[in-house]
Amino acid sequence: MSILVYTESQEGKFKKHALEAVSFAREIANQYGTDVIAVSVNAENLEELGKYGVNQVYSLKAKEINHRAVAQFIAEKADGVVVFSHSAEGTSIAPQVAVKLESAIITNILEKPQGIHPLVVKRTSFSGKALAWVETRDKTPVLTLAVNAFDLKENPIEIEVKTADLPQVENKIKVENIVRNNGQIDLKEAERVVSGGRGLKGPENWGMIEELAQSIEAATACSKPVSDMGWRPHSEHVGQTGKAIAPNLYLAVGISGAIQHLAGVNSSKTIVVINNDPEAPFFKSADYGIVGDAFEVVPKLTEAIKKLKA
Ligand SMILES: Cc1cc2nc3c(=O)[nH]c(=O)nc-3n(C[C@H](O)[C@H](O)[C@H](O)COP(=O)(O)OP(=O)(O)OC[C@H]3O[C@@H](n4cnc5c(N)ncnc54)[C@H](O)[C@@H]3O)c2cc1C
Repeated sequence: MSILVYTESQEGKFKKHALEAVSFAREIANQYGTDVIAVSVNAENLEELGKYGVNQVYSLKAKEINHRAVAQFIAEKADGVVVFSHSAEGTSIAPQVAVKLESAIITNILEKPQGIHPLVVKRTSFSGKALAWVETRDKTPVLTLAVNAFDLKENPIEIEVKTADLPQVENKIKVENIVRNNGQIDLKEAERVVSGGRGLKGPENWGMIEELAQSIEAATACSKPVSDMGWRPHSEHVGQTGKAIAPNLYLAVGISGAIQHLAGVNSSKTIVVINNDPEAPFFKSADYGIVGDAFEVVPKLTEAIKKLKA
């Protein structure tokens, strides 16, 4: 048996969460005493995977990534645990693989397995409000690893690169157009996020949020009413009905901390809240809190960060 891991890339470069998935797969492989085999489509610099402990990589080339075809390829190669990132692409392909293998699927895993006979993993459930320890005795369980949950671990190893073709499977989805947020940090993958709520009073005040975000190389996000009112694009809306994120740092400015907002952000490793109401519910979930007027605190914070960096 071996541990199979799907490694996502964009414009030829491995995504950070792909390397997290590899580090996680290597950890599991060590527990079983076996190899890690990666599958990647259109990635370059495949040797980078060897740095994180991949023994062998199937390098596939395709004009577009047909998820059905990738799922078929992976299901054909699976001979043990199969690992994906809990990303948009991972959560599209992983269930298809599980169906083909008639296997268990366990999503949103937070850390290395607690045991392998049977396999026991810890996962978040109910939008991060609860934790569950799940076990399976399946031979080819499919796992998705929460983004930013597992640190990169170098484990240099000699890697064998095998080229392969994607199976000819009809693609039932046609991508018409791709619009990229050029230069902006992807919110789902960001390590740091600065988020603004209705306390910021209007879209004209977002300059200070963007400046703070830039100073710490963070993505920007917002609460639901902010995107509903068109102050910010819908793509920045986080929460129960928006994106669920899990950055290392979530800095919330002028956001009350309603349960629906927390549902999308409470898996963040460190939460910092800036709010002028000491009774704001968000403080209960915060690691650090600043009670103060955002219009005074945020510019001072940005200035202090810039000074520190200089
Ligand atoms: C079914 C359903 C789904 C929902 N899904 C989501 C979701 O996905 N995401 C989401 O965000 N919400 C969601 N909501 C809405 C949610 O319930 C809250 O209404 C919303 O999160 C509040 O947004 P807010 O905190 O920006 O605004 P408010 O509740 O108006 O809070 C503004 C905060 O700013 C503070 N403030 C004001 N002035 C300042 C200042 N000068 N300096 C510092 N702080 C200041 C105030 O003290 C207050 O705490 C959902 C609601 C429902 C019913």
